[in-house]
Amino acid sequence: MRLRNVRGSREVIAVNEYVVRDEQTMKGRWHELFGNDNPIHIEVGMGKGRFIMDMARLNPDINYVGIEKFSSVLIRAIEKQEIEKLPNLYFIRMEAEYLENVFDKSEVSYIYLNFSDPWPKDRHAKRRLTSVQFLERYKNILSNGGGVTFKTDNRPLFDFTIEQADAAGWRKESVTYDLHNSPYAEGNVMTEYEERFSSMGNPICRIVYYPE
Ligand code: SAM
Repeated sequence: MRLRNVRGSREVIAVNEYVVRDEQTMKGRWHELFGNDNPIHIEVGMGKGRFIMDMARLNPDINYVGIEKFSSVLIRAIEKQEIEKLPNLYFIRMEAEYLENVFDKSEVSYIYLNFSDPWPKDRHAKRRLTSVQFLERYKNILSNGGGVTFKTDNRPLFDFTIEQADAAGWRKESVTYDLHNSPYAEGNVMTEYEERFSSMGNPICRIVYYPE
């Protein structure tokens, strides 16, 4: 993602009602914020938030938390949420490595990873959001029966993801190398990157998997 410094984004994030600050104090208390006991789904690396906003609109009985590390991107999601004011959606600006400081054991029912950064150099493999290191973090916050969906057009990253899922002993429920021409296409909610890359003709890979 090409990052531009968006002037004023940090200031908006510092006061916006849809951004949770002091997110570590929310650990174990997310239901208080939403005011109900509905399941919590998170998207890690949500970018400008198109996917998570569509999901929150389609599923009012699920609570969503969008996680993004860069203010300049998060601001675009905030601008849209300022207009829509979806009651079941909040954002956090944070580095995903620290997810376990923010969500308690079993507090999250589902995790979405969409078009995560590939970190192509071997020495950066641990930073990939589908590495065994990240899978361990997800396992520690997922509730019983909770899982992860990962989509990408990056085949080497997808192959790495499958390898890491096997190494961590996760159960793969479904894997496709061409989501849009597969039986799983129905009901698929597109992300910003998915729209861009599939319109260039790139097939989209997708895995659904569980830490059991
Ligand atoms: N998910 C969106 C989509 O599919 O359109 C955006 C994809 S973009 C390539 C990846 C996003 O993940 C970027 O906005 C990046 O800043 C964010 N990201 C990458 N690594 C992250 C991390 N460790 N913690 C939080 N956000 C991260």
